[in-house]
Amino acid sequence: MQLNETHDAGLRSWVASANSSVSDFPIQNLPFGIFRKGDSNESFRAGVAIGDQILDLAAAHKAGVFGAELDAALASLASDELNGFMAMGADVWSALRLQLSRLLRSGAQAEQQLNDCLLPQSDAQMKLPARIGDYTDFYTSIHHATNVGKLFRPDNPLLPNYQWVPIGYHGRSSSIDISGQTFPRPYGQLKAPDADAPVLAPCKRLDYELEVGIYIGEGNAPGTRISMQNAEQHVFGLCLFNDWSARDIQAWEYQPLGPFLSKSFASTVSPWIVTLEALAPYRLPWSRPDSDPQPLPYLDSAELRESGAVDMQLEVLIQTPSMQSPERLAQSNFSHSYWSISQMVAHHSVNGCNLKPGDLFGSGTLSGPDADSVGALLEATEGGKNPITLSNGEQRTFVEDGDTIILRGWCGGDDRPRIGFGEASATVLPAEQA
Ligand code: CA
Repeated sequence: MQLNETHDAGLRSWVASANSSVSDFPIQNLPFGIFRKGDSNESFRAGVAIGDQILDLAAAHKAGVFGAELDAALASLASDELNGFMAMGADVWSALRLQLSRLLRSGAQAEQQLNDCLLPQSDAQMKLPARIGDYTDFYTSIHHATNVGKLFRPDNPLLPNYQWVPIGYHGRSSSIDISGQTFPRPYGQLKAPDADAPVLAPCKRLDYELEVGIYIGEGNAPGTRISMQNAEQHVFGLCLFNDWSARDIQAWEYQPLGPFLSKSFASTVSPWIVTLEALAPYRLPWSRPDSDPQPLPYLDSAELRESGAVDMQLEVLIQTPSMQSPERLAQSNFSHSYWSISQMVAHHSVNGCNLKPGDLFGSGTLSGPDADSVGALLEATEGGKNPITLSNGEQRTFVEDGDTIILRGWCGGDDRPRIGFGEASATVLPAEQA
């Protein structure tokens, strides 16, 4: 993806809060979400985050500040889901981004008209940004796959297909909700290793998974495949994703067909979708150690080798009921991923499976190589054997009732604009009475 004037690090906005070095949403970001005024009966509609404000795109369209060539795009953004806009393709997304960048810059003539189209984010209620038809969870961190594999199969942690196939499973989309989600601790079949039979009980080993969510934009027709060269044209953007997991339910049910009820009770996304175009300055070369199998040709490309990875910082924090403020549990980076976004898209469609606008991929838990970069408690506590001690003295092996888990992510932030993702936060409630 080419850099253009929207990536210029020197751009400033007339929305003053967007110029703060700690804002997630400078004028170089411009992520999309679905919102309405809080405590209102207004219709949900699309907005763009700018500083601590939201630009109401339907109101801005009415104000007549956009070129007529964007009428169809803006009409679709008056709806309560981004799927229609996602389906329009990368050229349309890019054209709107350029207009928004020009309209929100310091000195833009439209400032006065657009000032009336802003709503403070603190006054807004957010909603899932897309109708997620299908959700697929990948397993792209080789560090995570190896750490978890060691717990289940000490002699054979990494299965032989891992370095050849971007492993994934089809998940359940109905229980994906937006940041602020609460859910009761799930029930399931639990079987102690020495027990003769399982029991139905609330999960005792509830865990988070630090993941990146990937929204598909334009889809593909059934029977066709998306090539590596075109793969990123089909990706609308990224978010933070917590794939909540019940480890005890998972350990009993996962063979031979993979996760089922251990994953389908709740998953949390951040409300804003950061477009791939906004991330263009933060791409890194993708590589594979020479000693590892190199990808098959359908999973390889010059673009992949040049800029297939994303330098996205990731963080997971906990706030227990007795803490005043959240405390960091781990820090990782999306660039640790063994498989790229383009490889996930190309592999998913290589059999002719049609992807649709608004489909969501999870990256899989993005553990890095170090002890403080593991993206799940299962790894941090080595399967619950070694509790972690928090700064207030509390200990955790897994997530307890009342705990809030917060994911954060950002690109840049030092000498370059901080392209932030906001946060994906969710709180675990006690199990429902049986
Ligand atoms: Ca997962």
